[in-house]
This record gives sequence, C-alpha cells and structure tokens, in this order.
Amino acid sequence: MVQGGYNAVLTPPDSIDAHFLDTLEGGAWINDQELAWTLVNEAPGRVLELEARYGCFFDRHPNGQVHQKPFAGQRHDRTIHKGDLTGIEIMNRLTEQVWRRPSISAFEEHRALDLLRDDGGRVSGALLLDLRRGTLVAVSSRATLLAMGAGPRCTASSRAPRTRRRTASPSASARACGCATWRWCSSIRPGSSCRTRS
Ligand SMILES: Cc1cc2nc3c(=O)[nH]c(=O)nc-3n(C[C@H](O)[C@H](O)[C@H](O)COP(=O)(O)OP(=O)(O)OC[C@H]3O[C@@H](n4cnc5c(N)ncnc54)[C@H](O)[C@@H]3O)c2cc1C
Repeated sequence: MVQGGYNAVLTPPDSIDAHFLDTLEGGAWINDQELAWTLVNEAPGRVLELEARYGCFFDRHPNGQVHQKPFAGQRHDRTIHKGDLTGIEIMNRLTEQVWRRPSISAFEEHRALDLLRDDGGRVSGALLLDLRRGTLVAVSSRATLLAMGAGPRCTASSRAPRTRRRTASPSASARACGCATWRWCSSIRPGSSCRTRS
C-alpha cells in the first residue's frame, strides 16, 4: 500500500518526459520502458479519477491546488499524497465503491490457494481458504485476475525474510506466482466436495 504518495505530472515545469526519465533512472534502466511510459502517461488521469469519481481527497495548498511534495529520486515536486497515509485513503475510498455495488461479492478473510482448471486445462476459477471457518471454497469464474502483490519474503536477496519488520505484509510471498506456476491441474473442481461459489 502506498505510504508516502504517488507520482504524477500535473503542472509545468514538470513534464511527462521528465517523469519518464526519473522512472527509468530510479529503475537502474532495467524497467520495461513500455510499461514505464504507460505509467507516467496514465498517472495524471488516475489522480483526477480517484478524486472526482471515487472521492479520494489528497492534500492541497490553501489556493486549492493539489499539493505535490518532493520524494525519492524525482527532479520535481511530483508526489501527490494525503499526509503519509495515502494508500489508506485510496484503499478506503475504493473499498467503499466495492461495498456500494451489489453486483460485487467480496470474500473477506479468504486466501487464494490455487487456480482451478477445467477439463481443457483452462483456468476456470480459484480455490480459496475461508480463514474464519477453516473450510475450502471453490469459486468458478469466466475470468481470473491475480493481484496478490510481490514476494519479498521469497527472495534470498531481499532483506525482508531476515528482518521481518521490513516486510509490509506476511502475505508478501508471491502466492500468485505459485498459483500460476504450480501443478498444471488441481484435482478439485468447482462442484466437488468443498463449498462452491461463482
Ligand atoms: C512501507 C512501504 C511504503 C511504500 N510507499 C510507497 C509510496 O510512497 N509510493 C509508491 O508508489 N509505492 C510505495 N510502496 C510500494 C507499493 O505499496 C507497492 O508497489 C504496491 O502496493 C503494490 O501493489 P499490488 O497491488 O501489486 O500489491 P499489494 O498492494 O501488496 O496487494 C496485494 C494484496 O493481495 C493480498 N494477497 C496476497 N496473497 C494472497 C492470497 N493468497 N489470497 C488472497 N489475497 C492475497 C495481500 O493481502 C494484499 O492485500 C510502499 C511499500 C511499502 C512496503
């Protein structure tokens, strides 16, 4: 979750080109440049969307202009923030948007364990663990998106596993990679012995 804030070009003298260059330099030039270009171009629109459409309220100058602070490796004051709790602001507002849409079923306190596949080997859902009940839940779906974050606890080069206080979340274990690359098929299918949802 973003803590300090996130970067977007809003006003001159800052520019998309400068943000792009800073992003490449910050990534020691190993970034996927197409992705970095998309990131810097999309960022200003996302700020407007978060504020105007989803109700995020970022810090502002007295004249109403969005406040942008200096932040790591950026040549301009570019970081939009809400104090040092920017991620909480974004997540709270987006969570509200989820709750107000009855068409979305949210599974709180569930962990994804594996992907489910149909007889043709295509992903057809996911196997979840209901942490409160200790039961398995098979969810069938037409599309499955893995958004489980990165895995600093998995890599020997990361300081996170040795000094656990540096790990933002105990779930930062690249479970998505495990789901995507683990056994090519699971013996559990939607409709078998566990609870099923779609
Ligand atoms: C202390 C700190 C400060 C940071 N500050 C900034 C900043 O100021 N600006 C910035 O741009 N970036 C910052 N970052 C980086 C930023 O937070 C991450 O890049 C970003 O959150 C990654 O988003 P994500 O959606 O990929 O993953 P995450 O935000 O990690 O989300 C993954 C989610 O998946 C869940 N999950 C994981 N495994 C499972 C599973 N098996 N089943 C179900 N759910 C699962 C996790 O609980 C989590 O909620 C910071 C990171 C840290 C740790």
